[in-house]
Amino acid sequence: MLRSVILAASRSSQVERLVATAPYTRDVVRRFVAGAATDDALRVTRGLIDDGLAVTLDHLGEDTVTSEQAVATRDEYLRLLKMLAEAGLTPAAEVSVKLSALGQMFDEQLAYESVRAICAAADAAGTTVTLDMEDHTTTDSTLEVLGKLRKDFPSTGAVLQAYLRRTESDCRELSSAGSRVRLCKGAYKEPESVAYQSAREVDKSYVRCMNILMSGDGYPMLATHDPRMIAIGEDRARWFDRGADRFEFQMLFGIRPEEQARLAGEGYTVRTYVPYGDDWYGYLMRRLAERPANLVFFGRALMSKK
Ligand SMILES: Cc1cc2nc3c(=O)[nH]c(=O)nc-3n(C[C@H](O)[C@H](O)[C@H](O)COP(=O)(O)OP(=O)(O)OC[C@H]3O[C@@H](n4cnc5c(N)ncnc54)[C@H](O)[C@@H]3O)c2cc1C
Repeated sequence: MLRSVILAASRSSQVERLVATAPYTRDVVRRFVAGAATDDALRVTRGLIDDGLAVTLDHLGEDTVTSEQAVATRDEYLRLLKMLAEAGLTPAAEVSVKLSALGQMFDEQLAYESVRAICAAADAAGTTVTLDMEDHTTTDSTLEVLGKLRKDFPSTGAVLQAYLRRTESDCRELSSAGSRVRLCKGAYKEPESVAYQSAREVDKSYVRCMNILMSGDGYPMLATHDPRMIAIGEDRARWFDRGADRFEFQMLFGIRPEEQARLAGEGYTVRTYVPYGDDWYGYLMRRLAERPANLVFFGRALMSKK
């Protein structure tokens, strides 16, 4: 219920104005977002890599409605990739891209050409791209774009969401050799017709999907902060004899950093998803929806008078 309300608020421009102008919002944002500028992203990336983690960078922004915005997002990724290569931060750092930020909602061709340009730039920089997955109305088109991109850029990563009923079947489709697949639970509000609604059902689906990916031929990327899912992931890694070069754990910047360090210390590959940029509202609201403790922290910040 609470999750639904917060996810609905994530699409409200009125709530966005309220949140953006609240006194301590910036302090809360800083906990989950690397900063506004490309230099902030680079600084945080270097720190994480020095600590033994891998990184995927996300330039914040989604549901872009003008071609100017879409082109600006593409250009930011091209700039970022060049800077990452110049700074010697590739291949440890890759990038995550949302097709909706590149104009998928109003001009699919523009979005496709832009993501292709980003994949080519990543390739030239010695790294790769993962296509974030958004709400279920975009799953087919995103997987279609993935298929086209993989013809020239086979390391392009997919994201599958365990809360969708279709995902077990998508896991089977995508567990072929060399196929990088990030498995997450899913962060959007989805109807019962397409998605499991209870946490228990989602967790069971996550484990079934993990079994398919970890026993398959691809490269699974287990994106979760859930201690139970992580423990099962470690178990499956032993079971299917997958070393640090054959799968990875992924977590979000600012969430369970000690667990990220612990897993890296155990010899696992751990990738931190690092968002940066000004357009943090939708991202922050999804993080709040996931965890009531974050909401209390945020509520206190909103109420306080600076
Ligand atoms: C790297 C990465 C990339 C992602 N990409 C996408 C994407 O492309 N599309 C998409 O829809 N979603 C994406 N997500 C979000 C994902 O779908 C989930 O919404 C999010 O990860 C929360 O699910 P969870 O597996 O962490 O566990 P949850 O079910 O949220 O939590 C389970 C347990 O994990 C622990 N936990 C969770 N959060 C915290 C916290 N903040 N602090 C301490 N403990 C915590 C708690 O013990 C909690 O009970 C991504 C997540 C990650 C980590």
